Amino acid sequence: MKRIYLDYAATTPIDPKVLEAMMPYLKDEYGNASSIHQLGQKAKEAIDKAREQVASFLNCLPSEVFFTGSATESDNIAVSGVVDFFLQKDKQVHVVTTQIEHSAVLESAKASKEWGAEVVYCPVNAKGLIDVPEIEKLIKDNTVLVSVMYANNEIGAIQPIVEIGKLLKKINKTRKNKIFFHTDAVQAVNYLDCDVEKLGVDLLTLSAHKIYGPKGVGALYIKKDTPIQPLIYGGGQERGIRPGTENVAGIVGIGKAIAEISKYQNTDISRYRDKLINGILEKIPRAHLNGPRDNRLPNNVNVSFEGAEGEALVIALDQEGVAASTGSACSTRSLEPSHVLLALGLTQEQAHGSLRLTLGRYTTEEEIDKVLEVLLEIVGRLRKISGII
Ligand SMILES: *Cc1c(COP(=O)(O)O)cnc(C)c1O
Repeated sequence: MKRIYLDYAATTPIDPKVLEAMMPYLKDEYGNASSIHQLGQKAKEAIDKAREQVASFLNCLPSEVFFTGSATESDNIAVSGVVDFFLQKDKQVHVVTTQIEHSAVLESAKASKEWGAEVVYCPVNAKGLIDVPEIEKLIKDNTVLVSVMYANNEIGAIQPIVEIGKLLKKINKTRKNKIFFHTDAVQAVNYLDCDVEKLGVDLLTLSAHKIYGPKGVGALYIKKDTPIQPLIYGGGQERGIRPGTENVAGIVGIGKAIAEISKYQNTDISRYRDKLINGILEKIPRAHLNGPRDNRLPNNVNVSFEGAEGEALVIALDQEGVAASTGSACSTRSLEPSHVLLALGLTQEQAHGSLRLTLGRYTTEEEIDKVLEVLLEIVGRLRKISGII
């Protein structure tokens, strides 16, 4: 059976060109980038090149790019690092984030709360979009950080980062204590403009394995003069923000993956997405699209079916060779309904019924046709079992 992979938001296959670029650093070029000898310097040069590749994509200085072990780590450094810096100065710390962030941000925010910061969560509208005035309402005199994701991993909702950036710039002009702005851009990188100047952000999170790179590497953009307290301590690599001997091959991988992205940004993936959404809504009664129709990532489909559980759908699809997911991959193993779908106002039951299909670089039109056919049959079968036809 030919497998159909529609879980690109969970992870992407590695691009052969990325793997090829990494291979020398897994084999012969094994030097430690901190060593003075030639092998060490080769490793250092490779890291420098990757830093330039990421900086060029983000339109920032190479010295503003920090490599980490994952986007989870980048989110932790961004949120907890800024909060901790101000808490250590005995400042009153207030943080604004949203109800639909990835758990890496939500759990960092929760930890910040335990350390003594005040954290507030901006709600979203029924489509999963942040209303900029809602952010403005939450800002206080002691707000130090606003963290809003660029595009949501479950429903693909693209948030108004440029507008929030402008708002914060305007507010910052009128006060002494700057509000820093972080965005988790992990899901946006493949499709959206990530120029940090245009976005107006001070911190931006990336992950390699969501952009056809290797797992276990992330990056964090930290604008010059942004205060950060490191979370781990060691030998001073990554200018003390993320010490530990560098994952040279992984870093080369994220650099190459970023450098390849522009070649794919103009593909017509949204046409396949729309074919899938329209096909589902037309062919399957009582199916509901979660998230916005516009301002949606071109590769994201998230639907709920009355009388068919998300988990049962994923298992049945898997038996037909289709890899999909319910909500986000990270929360799939928990029985908690998706916090994102609850934030949209769905009931617990509706939130349990969701199916996420995320498309990618290797998705074909035939695969979309096949999935529509299989899904129609599976939803019908599951509804019969649950007695809801
Ligand atoms: C996948 C994902 C992360 C976590 O990335 P890792 O590199 O796997 O830690 C963070 N934020 C978003 C939006 C994601 O989709």
